[in-house]
Amino acid sequence: MSTGTTKSYDAVIVGARCAGAATALLLSAHGARVLVVDHDQPGTDTMSTHALMRGVVMQLRKWGVLDEIVRAGTPPVRRTSFIYDGHAVVDVDIRPEHGVDALFAPRRRLLDATLAEAAGASGAEFRYATGCAGLVADEAGRVRGIRLRSARGPVEEVRAGIVIGADGRRSAVARHVAAPVTRQARHSIGCIYSYMHGIPYDGYRWHFAHGAAGGIIPTNDGLSCVFVAVPPGVLTEARAAGTASQGALIARHLPMLAAEIEGTTPAEGPVTFAGARGYLRQATGEGWALVGDAGYFRDPLTAHGITDALRDAENLADAITTGNLSEYTALRDRLSFDVFDLTDRIAGLDWSMEGVQDLHRKLNKVMKANQDWIAGLSGVVGQAA
Ligand SMILES: Cc1cc2nc3c(=O)[nH]c(=O)nc-3n(C[C@H](O)[C@H](O)[C@H](O)COP(=O)(O)OP(=O)(O)OC[C@H]3O[C@@H](n4cnc5c(N)ncnc54)[C@H](O)[C@@H]3O)c2cc1C
Repeated sequence: MSTGTTKSYDAVIVGARCAGAATALLLSAHGARVLVVDHDQPGTDTMSTHALMRGVVMQLRKWGVLDEIVRAGTPPVRRTSFIYDGHAVVDVDIRPEHGVDALFAPRRRLLDATLAEAAGASGAEFRYATGCAGLVADEAGRVRGIRLRSARGPVEEVRAGIVIGADGRRSAVARHVAAPVTRQARHSIGCIYSYMHGIPYDGYRWHFAHGAAGGIIPTNDGLSCVFVAVPPGVLTEARAAGTASQGALIARHLPMLAAEIEGTTPAEGPVTFAGARGYLRQATGEGWALVGDAGYFRDPLTAHGITDALRDAENLADAITTGNLSEYTALRDRLSFDVFDLTDRIAGLDWSMEGVQDLHRKLNKVMKANQDWIAGLSGVVGQAA
């Protein structure tokens, strides 16, 4: 049942985390009337580690959001180290390029809230503890609005020029519009991560061994996020045998990582991700669009989700503003296919050490091309020199 007067917005965005808040920031900066809704409360965590790549740091800087993340004590990351089979170490220093000389890994409760605050300051309206109860379409099937449900009252119908699903892997918007899956990954990792005190590394450390990967991601409050990734079947077997603790998996599969974290103190976690295969979905239709994980999920092992989500938020906002919505899916796919396919091969965890190094070199080339693309986006927010 719907209530009285129907409110109307240029865009209603379902999902207020990185993809939704960034899209709201950019659309409202273009003068659009934007409503963002989310089940969750602001400033909460979600299941995700949070290593950012250069592309997204460039955007956060351009939008004036990076300063707040630095002010909150997020440590700069100036080196990425790849450790193959416990001994072959490749150190990559973060060189100044595109205005960025360090990477960052802010906690999601900080990153998502900072983007939402910037969007709010730009004029976007946020409603939390509010979910999507369905979409409203006209007789021709074009989406014209959304039905919102909150604990506060009856279902409310809201009109929207466009409804944007930024509502993650289990996207209700994608389900309501039956967005077709256009590409499906073959592999997935299972992963356990937790936060530790006392780890002496200030760079990203990615470990690769036969059938496993892991790493260290320095973050806020003097903590480091430590993760281990194995095939989901190995995680299931270890759980059945009662040996699925993060420490046991690291000791068994990644002894060098075990040595690096020895004597450190667990502070938060562990969190277990059982695995999910990546996909690309058609990302636009009549009156709707998908951004972030709602339309495109790649395995977390290459740590690209947030970087891709914000790139696509900017592409989507541009497409809506310039009236080229139908071109957004093709553009997203063109920019994503290589990362998607390389990530899938890396997530297979079935490579030789030479093989995975070759995949990393290819991924690095694709990342640079993506950064060049992001550097060319004009945008109306921020524009730091
Ligand atoms: C284990 C793991 C580790 C990862 N590590 C990294 C990493 O190191 N670096 C990286 O870049 N990426 C990483 N990722 C990927 C990253 O988490 C995602 O790409 C990112 O969260 C996508 O953001 P989003 O805004 O699209 O969706 P989400 O972060 O999933 O947010 C969706 C929001 O929509 C809301 N929502 C959902 N349904 C509804 C509804 N019906 N009504 C209202 N609200 C709704 C949810 O409450 C949620 O707040 C990792 C992922 C996993 C699983």
